Amino acid sequence: MAEANAKKGGLLVISGFSGVGKGTVIRRLMEEFPEYAFSVSATTRKPRPGETHGTDYFFIDPETFDRWVEEGKFLEYARFFDKAYGTLAEHVEDLRNQGKTVILDVEVEGACNIMKSCPDAVSVYIIPPSAGELHSRLKKRATESEAQIRGRMEKAVREADIIPQYHHIVVNDEVQDTAEEIHQLAQGTGKTRLPRRKAMRLARQIQKDLARILEQ
Ligand code: 5GP
Repeated sequence: MAEANAKKGGLLVISGFSGVGKGTVIRRLMEEFPEYAFSVSATTRKPRPGETHGTDYFFIDPETFDRWVEEGKFLEYARFFDKAYGTLAEHVEDLRNQGKTVILDVEVEGACNIMKSCPDAVSVYIIPPSAGELHSRLKKRATESEAQIRGRMEKAVREADIIPQYHHIVVNDEVQDTAEEIHQLAQGTGKTRLPRRKAMRLARQIQKDLARILEQ
């Protein structure tokens, strides 16, 4: 139930290269600062070990997803890797009406759509300290096949062109520092630790390095 007097909460859009540690940073933000709530998306992909329905995602079948699209339930949705992902409009609105700042963990297409439809949203793109770091984190995750890891890296290379559209680019070197940095940015009270120009240069370098790793 929405609290009648709560000030409407904001929207914090977080994207990042797959394997960058986005999930860990988001969990830390929620542990440290009670004003955040996570937008639980719907997806047609299967749960990974440890993931729960209703907490990580609403795991639904493709027919239900298509029906929800037709019924206009999604604030945005995107299809990639043969799967569909969507942000549930009513769920986000309920949380905002409770005064929560809602964190959306979405990829670039979804983030751009949110930025267009919700101009008050703050958007953050998280990059790793280096491409090598990203590659080894993806391999360590061990929940995906080589082909899936390749697919995610290829998507990361393509997506890098869209990074300049985000309000802020943040390097995830240490989770606590990254969470605090994002919190300050969301409140409009802080600056990124790495200046934007340098962060963009690093993102471009990572894009090139990833492309090189993929060629090998
Ligand atoms: P994963 O399958 O690793 O959980 O997520 C894959 C990608 O889907 C991530 O980049 C994540 O940000 C994105 N994603 C998760 N939920 C949504 C959503 O509701 N909409 C969009 N556009 N992307 C999402």
